[in-house]
Amino acid sequence: MRWFIVAFMMLLPLFGEAPLQENMENRKVIILLGAPGAGKGTQAELLKEKYGLPHISTGDLLRQHLRQKTALGEKVKSFLDRGQLVPDPLVLEMLFARLKEADSAKGFLLDGFPRTVAQAEALEGYFQSEGVQPIALSIEVSDEKIIRRLTGRESCEACGAVYHALFSPARVVGQCDRCSGKLVQRNDDKEAVIVERLQVYHKQTEPVKHFYQARGRLRTISGEASIEATATALEEALSQTT
Ligand code: AMP
Repeated sequence: MRWFIVAFMMLLPLFGEAPLQENMENRKVIILLGAPGAGKGTQAELLKEKYGLPHISTGDLLRQHLRQKTALGEKVKSFLDRGQLVPDPLVLEMLFARLKEADSAKGFLLDGFPRTVAQAEALEGYFQSEGVQPIALSIEVSDEKIIRRLTGRESCEACGAVYHALFSPARVVGQCDRCSGKLVQRNDDKEAVIVERLQVYHKQTEPVKHFYQARGRLRTISGEASIEATATALEEALSQTT
């Protein structure tokens, strides 16, 4: 797989313009690491407001492809349904296309990426020569708590908005506050799939923490307490890095 990533990085300029060369070194790139259900998406939405950076979630981008029934959506459906990782080349092509959009010029918040060491290496390659050094914040939550959180989660099949039956229910049961779409449980939020996703996380994504730790760019935060307490801890960790 590594040879593919290297070849992919070399061929990247052929997909279009070289990725945003201007002011790259001033770009703030924040990576949110943590198991599925650790609260990365919720915290990313809060940080997005504070820092004025776009929230880029590879999971959301992939689900958008599923909803729109694109060719990529067809290719990735079975991976998402089984709780397994989508192959690196597909995710990298999708993500790097997204990073070329104008709103990423100042920087961005990554949620759910990188999930493998090969993805982390590809991201470093993407920034090579521009001097951007992403900061990784890992939100730590026990597996037991994750299972409790994810089994109550539901999302809108039309717009993707996320609710929780206990912690943040929609105003009308089963109906999206934002667009009145139908709320459904994601296939990958069923308990058996959650257990698989946690195994995949421990095996394939935890090494990504060591990748950033070895570069002095990892901060670890507990995500066990409230959303507010986690947000405060994240902001403190970020203020120490700037
Ligand atoms: P998430 O919403 O981040 O939990 O992602 C949902 C699913 O999308 C994951 O279980 C994977 O199947 C897929 N996915 C999201 N991000 C990635 C990634 N960076 N690499 C591979 N697969 C991913």
